[in-house]
Amino acid sequence: MQAYLNQGPRTVKTPQNEPIPGSSQVANNAGGFGWSVDDLTRLKRFLILGSAGGTYYVGERKLTAQNLEALERLVQAGRGREVVDLIVEISKAGRGVSNDPALFALAACSAVKDDAALRTYALSKLPEVARTGTHVLHFVLLVKQFRGWGRAYKRAVADWFTRKPVRDLAFQAVKYQNRDGYRMRDLLRLAHPHPLGSPDTEGRGILYHWITKGWDAVGDEPHSMEALRLVWAFERAKRATSDREVADLIRKYRMPREAVPTERLHSVEVWNALLEEMPMEAMVRNLATMTREGVLKPMGAATIEVMKRLGDEERIKRARLHPIKLLAATMTYQEGKSVRGDGKWEPLREILDALDMAFYLSFKHVVPTGKRILLAIDTSGSMWGNKVNGIPNLPAAMGAAALALVVAASETTYHIVGFETGCHPLTISPRHRLGEALALMQAQSRPLGTDLAQPILYASERGLDVDAIVMLSDGETWAGRQHPAQALTEYRRKVGHAVKLVNVAMCSTHVTNNDPSDRDALECFGFDTAMPELISAFVRGEF
Ligand code: CA
Repeated sequence: MQAYLNQGPRTVKTPQNEPIPGSSQVANNAGGFGWSVDDLTRLKRFLILGSAGGTYYVGERKLTAQNLEALERLVQAGRGREVVDLIVEISKAGRGVSNDPALFALAACSAVKDDAALRTYALSKLPEVARTGTHVLHFVLLVKQFRGWGRAYKRAVADWFTRKPVRDLAFQAVKYQNRDGYRMRDLLRLAHPHPLGSPDTEGRGILYHWITKGWDAVGDEPHSMEALRLVWAFERAKRATSDREVADLIRKYRMPREAVPTERLHSVEVWNALLEEMPMEAMVRNLATMTREGVLKPMGAATIEVMKRLGDEERIKRARLHPIKLLAATMTYQEGKSVRGDGKWEPLREILDALDMAFYLSFKHVVPTGKRILLAIDTSGSMWGNKVNGIPNLPAAMGAAALALVVAASETTYHIVGFETGCHPLTISPRHRLGEALALMQAQSRPLGTDLAQPILYASERGLDVDAIVMLSDGETWAGRQHPAQALTEYRRKVGHAVKLVNVAMCSTHVTNNDPSDRDALECFGFDTAMPELISAFVRGEF
């Protein structure tokens, strides 16, 4: 599927309705109203999706040099600085599903042959792209594919340390002690930043000493330097003789969970202390653990506190908790056992109710695309049996119903249909609950195959003029009398403008036929919590 990368750069000068010279396929499936993908868009897609061909795969994929062919062509064309600026922009704005592709691309730019200026420029941006300890540790692993430790690279890693205030650096060092076999200690030893010359030389020197060699003695009194008290607390927690002592340290020095010794994470007292300052998303992620450890129990104070937070619209908004994230948390929590099977808990009715309430509260904060959207949901029988790839225990039908509610609640101009070998309107509306949306889909469900051309033909036959068609199926689809790509070409021609197509195969784990040259097509394999915002960004035209 990467073959297209070898066809050389494409230009938009080729008339849209003619095949591209040297290419075995037609320009794209867009007829006269589509544009092929330029290298900057390919790079953008890689930085956002983790793959270059307009396809998003759920789950971690190995980042390979093949993904960087567009980047290499841009660098060769003298656009290296533009490339680095794009990496920084997308990374800083958090627009990618993960920060890893940005780190990977920056690592590649830091190793470009015969362009010392570009290498220096890329390395100078390291602190902006690797913002946390875990980022910089991962960068060091990724860069190994491209280059060895040179002077400029060492200086860049040294700068990463020097530019961080002592207090921030102490937090990063306590929270992210190692990743991929690298420890902060290794980085310090290799890069060897010197604490001299910084305004906080003394504290920095003591911190560097702690990271590389540890401290010889940890006194009973908190460290005299405020910025180093977290490190002191971390060391004291390791030596603590009671849960109470650890809980006190957590409260006083705002220790994150990662800094708490593992054996203390079976204590109600310790978890209660952690809960006080726990960010919303971490709290939602830890509901099962806290139930298993007895922190959350019927009528307990912590239970009441968690319920209060989940019912707080302002908190949900600030934490940017998307409905699908809350649905995923619900599916995991109500199962009563972890996916790997190493943990069991009794789900609390109170927590399930609170998650349900949070789910509906979170709809208000979804940012609409403002586009005209046709949302097409596969209503064939298999949607109820198949689970999505990416969110444990979630039936495809329920994921689709939830996304339909999100669209209904946030967008103003939309139409929702169900389809298999035919296509019919679905009257899912913002006033429905999830169960009602599912019932509407169920009422239409038939044991038939699924034809992806149907929603497009439906829009065409009914004269609907839309900006985007989003199709959700489990992935068990087949082409009917007309291929979806052909139907799309005809539809685009008919409405006379670009029409984006998002095809989500919710349960698929493997790749099928995507046309990577169609700028307006996105294919998704699997269904995870990052996907709704990814689809919105694509429909808005961001990548
Ligand atoms: Ca089916």
